[in-house]
Amino acid sequence: MRAYRIAVASAMTLLSASQVYAQSSSAKGTVTVGTASAARGVRAYGEIAVPAGSDAAMSIQVAVMHGALPGPTVAFISGAHGTEYASVVALTRLIERINPQSLAGTVIVVPLLNVASFEQMTVHTNPVDKKGMNATYPGNAKGTQTERALQLMTEQVVSVADVIVDLHGGDIDEDLRPYSYWTRTGNAAQDSATRALLMAFGLDHVIVRDLDITNAATTRSLSGYALSKGKTAIVAEAGRSGMVLQDDVDLLVKGSLRVLGAMHMTSDKANSMSRATWLSAAQRAAADKPGMFFATVQRDSKVKAGQALGFTTDYVGRRTGIVTAPVDGLVGFIRGVPSMWSGATLASVLPILKDVPVWVKP
Ligand SMILES: [Zn+2]
Repeated sequence: MRAYRIAVASAMTLLSASQVYAQSSSAKGTVTVGTASAARGVRAYGEIAVPAGSDAAMSIQVAVMHGALPGPTVAFISGAHGTEYASVVALTRLIERINPQSLAGTVIVVPLLNVASFEQMTVHTNPVDKKGMNATYPGNAKGTQTERALQLMTEQVVSVADVIVDLHGGDIDEDLRPYSYWTRTGNAAQDSATRALLMAFGLDHVIVRDLDITNAATTRSLSGYALSKGKTAIVAEAGRSGMVLQDDVDLLVKGSLRVLGAMHMTSDKANSMSRATWLSAAQRAAADKPGMFFATVQRDSKVKAGQALGFTTDYVGRRTGIVTAPVDGLVGFIRGVPSMWSGATLASVLPILKDVPVWVKP
């Protein structure tokens, strides 16, 4: 069911009164996600209990703010990569910033999806089954832990939300500059709605990528899956190298609050950006073998194709190579630790767009 409608005056219209999020599931008296049941005007805490299967059970904690007034449902999710701490901490702090007594609509917050990654400090994947927790939507109730968890996330959270906000931060191995993603489907109304929320979120660098939602193999991420179901979904990323810096946390908390303001769920003024630096999808410099990596440029540097980004050594300090930029662009992130393995991303370089191109089916 398409839970809201959007009147689009122009694909380039910023969020305005032309965008109408109608009442959705939060027209209900009580909203229940996992064991969290929130009556109108109430904040409830609970868990989504993922039962044991071929591997261990797990529990995903959730907060639900069910507004006193009707409105749309927004889900904020982070910690698919459980060591992207700035984003996880940001969502724990967002919860107390939302007052259900004055909220129009419902907000579901899941700060830490990949609990085992967090507890064991394992980057990128769930150490229980070695699968990516942003890579196998809509999940599978008969699968391994990641798949069982994502099946319940799909059923309990994604399916009831009109808008999905997926937060990330540079992982322990990523010294990252903040940015968001504008993932386009070619549906003008959907792309306009997504863009409007990105501009409200307020990260001033935006990566443009195009998705073919008719190809299920390319919609296995949270945002891709949500977009394929007709929802509005944005991804925003701030944080780096395992640190929880106040500036990064603030970017994510304030951006999330601005999304709610832009959707008229709170009285916060939207203050959307009028412009952004648009970037095309990252080109990655990857390691061809294990060893040590040392960056010689910083995140956010403008680089030219072929320019040195860092160098590699073996485990007795002998130089084994120079890592160069694959294209002209901005260093979105660069590896912040020496550890590398064959195929590890050492740097991501984001070509800077003069103009935002029209959507092209990938
Ligand atoms: Zn991430």
